[in-house]
Amino acid sequence: MSLVRKHILSIAPYEGGKPIEELKRQLGLKDVIKLASNENPLGPSPLALAAIRRNLSSLNRYPDANGFYLRKKIAKACNVESSAIVLGNGSDELIDIILKTFVEDDEHILTADYTFLEYGLISKVKNRTVITVPLKYFRYDLEAIKKRIDNKTKVIFISNPNNPTGTYVTKYELEEFLKGLPDNVIVVLDEAYDNFTDVNDFPQSLDYIRKNNIIVLKTFSKSYGLAGLRVGYAVAKPELATYMNVARQPFNVNLLAQAGAVAALDDKKFLKRTRRVVLEGKDYLYDALTKMGLAYVPTVANFILIDVARDGVEVFNKMLKFGVIVRDMKQYGLKNFIRVTIGTKKENERFVRVLKKII
Ligand SMILES: *Cc1c(COP(=O)(O)O)cnc(C)c1O
Repeated sequence: MSLVRKHILSIAPYEGGKPIEELKRQLGLKDVIKLASNENPLGPSPLALAAIRRNLSSLNRYPDANGFYLRKKIAKACNVESSAIVLGNGSDELIDIILKTFVEDDEHILTADYTFLEYGLISKVKNRTVITVPLKYFRYDLEAIKKRIDNKTKVIFISNPNNPTGTYVTKYELEEFLKGLPDNVIVVLDEAYDNFTDVNDFPQSLDYIRKNNIIVLKTFSKSYGLAGLRVGYAVAKPELATYMNVARQPFNVNLLAQAGAVAALDDKKFLKRTRRVVLEGKDYLYDALTKMGLAYVPTVANFILIDVARDGVEVFNKMLKFGVIVRDMKQYGLKNFIRVTIGTKKENERFVRVLKKII
């Protein structure tokens, strides 16, 4: 007999990107850069920071359990009613809330094989069956996913753009996929990186939420530079969102996170600067990788999946010694790959210098 539930015993814990401080401590390094977790290299949104500072002295109070101002502001930006918005402690928590709200014990989750690890991990913690469908040329294969839908399927997770490949589902592909989808299936479009896309055929997902069982997930972690604050949101028709709001914990988004996120939504200047750094950095890295003879997957996000043509864990470990943290793809099952976040010009140049040195 075990104190711990059997399905929990068999789950491997999540391994995130290595923290900067940890590497400094371990190797006695002074100057470390982290290009491992797709964070914003410019720091947090300055408007968010100012709002957080202004709210520090209210920390004796509980946060607003309804997130009134933040939901209202998001709703306005999305052109929906506040009742269509659910706030989360990062979009990670919204994945958890979706499973709690909609998925019965014997119902299944459907997603791709090489995609955001949290879909599988959170589902396993909840003891739900996850069915994965192979990517096709590093892209979600929605036709194949549709064929795998059966009467047990409840939620389909689509990371768009996809982490870790940086590829995306087009408007046409999404529309074809939605045609004739069973009424009892919910499609989650996780758009953590949508602010970085630079293509014309990326779907405007909010156009589909009224007529479909679609939940769109957005986060302040990446483009707004607020990963440490933990705040994200879901947009869905009120018939779905209302019950997610019932299932979530009332104080899941803390007071500073609510204040910071409200202010961040006004920070158009920061968003623009972030986008420029990412798009310029992408051009630079494409060029450098091509010159090195390394293949990569073209990306619409703020990271690049690179085929290093040798063991990715080895490359990761060697780069650590030079103070550069990237992400090996072992957990994802992509052995000869690393994923690198597009950083500032200086960070990208250092990454390229070190990569050249070790391969
Ligand atoms: C980074 C990321 C998120 C954001 O997670 P938060 O919990 O909001 O920080 C969500 N989905 C994907 C695919 C991501 O890569």
